[in-house]
Amino acid sequence: MSEVNFGPMPDKDGYFGEYGGQIIPPELKQVMDDINDAYQEIKETAEFKDELDMLFATYVGRPSPIYHAKRLSDKIGGAQIYLKREDLNHTGAHKINHCLGEALLAKHMNKTKVIAETGAGQHGVALATACALVGIPCEIHMGQVDIEKEAPNVTKMKILGCKLVPVTRGTATLKDAVDSAFEEYLKDPVNTIYAIGSVVGPHPFPKMVRDFQSVIGREARAQFLDSNGKLPNYITACVGGGSNAMGLFTEFLNDSDVGIVGVEPAGMGLDTDMHSATMTKGSKGAIHGFKCYVLQDEQGEPLPVHSIASGLDYPGVGPQHCLLKDLGRVEYETATDEECLNAFMQLSQVEGIIPALESSHAVAWAMKKAATLSPDQTILVNLSGRGDKDADYVAEKLGL
Ligand SMILES: *Cc1c(COP(=O)(O)O)cnc(C)c1O
Repeated sequence: MSEVNFGPMPDKDGYFGEYGGQIIPPELKQVMDDINDAYQEIKETAEFKDELDMLFATYVGRPSPIYHAKRLSDKIGGAQIYLKREDLNHTGAHKINHCLGEALLAKHMNKTKVIAETGAGQHGVALATACALVGIPCEIHMGQVDIEKEAPNVTKMKILGCKLVPVTRGTATLKDAVDSAFEEYLKDPVNTIYAIGSVVGPHPFPKMVRDFQSVIGREARAQFLDSNGKLPNYITACVGGGSNAMGLFTEFLNDSDVGIVGVEPAGMGLDTDMHSATMTKGSKGAIHGFKCYVLQDEQGEPLPVHSIASGLDYPGVGPQHCLLKDLGRVEYETATDEECLNAFMQLSQVEGIIPALESSHAVAWAMKKAATLSPDQTILVNLSGRGDKDADYVAEKLGL
């Protein structure tokens, strides 16, 4: 494994090994290439870097701290669990990191409207925030089921001034919202931009979103070394599309002593059809403009997926994750809805930190793993977001 250099990825056509690329209509190819060119051009300029760094520091509140969850670790009696606190970011999750990057890019390209989908509403709120800041109109497509489940985020998006489009087709969740937003985008791809909410979609989005998110791992690696004098034994993050995970993992890929684990939602169980464990149960295919593992039927149509966490129920996954799985550099494990809820309550009641249901999947795996390790070992969890948005839902579910 040590011979593989995980740095320069993807290749110039946007491939991570055989995954990724641009499986899109010819008229979109030029548009995507223009986005890539604009991104390559500005990402090296001092003006762009300084503006993004300044916003990270003064607007998002970066660097986010690393917190030693000592009481939780002691209670489990195994490895020490540390949390990278992306939940403390402005808007409550990691998504603001790439939304600011995308909004600045849209401004630079003189786009007149930003279009996007949202699942749990986190991408929608983060993007509406970034668009308000940059001063670009924004239109968010969201499944009706998610609209009902995530009322606080829906209200916030409206207050932030974005146009919210409810999507009722199909299962009225994330995948349908992507389809709907993509159709809107195709009406005028030259003047609008589709701000994809994870490390998915056609090239250059998997690369671009990863680059914006990789601030998480750059900070975390330096912070952990500084406070512990060594790197963690394991790092872990939940995987929906895979952006918070790539954000943490990227800086650690060449540290062969660090075990890296992505945690997918096993929902009601991997042997049911009520899960969203794309990497674990999917097969090679294409979805939304790129090649990856997909939960699909025999015709290659994406299957309906389920997770208690709206932000994780997507039948595809970022192309770089697919390659990292094949190379064996990252292991992909799962946590069920029940394990997620348990972790959500444990972290809330033992540490006073209410995590997002998405992030709770990674916490659940870390708790399970910690119990098998010794107290001198360490696990760093990316706490991708806070659970305020999920509090009412969980209370109802548990009859609190
Ligand atoms: C959206 C979201 C996720 C899932 O998205 P990834 O691209 O897989 O990171 C995870 N956690 C939180 C808090 C989210 O809002």
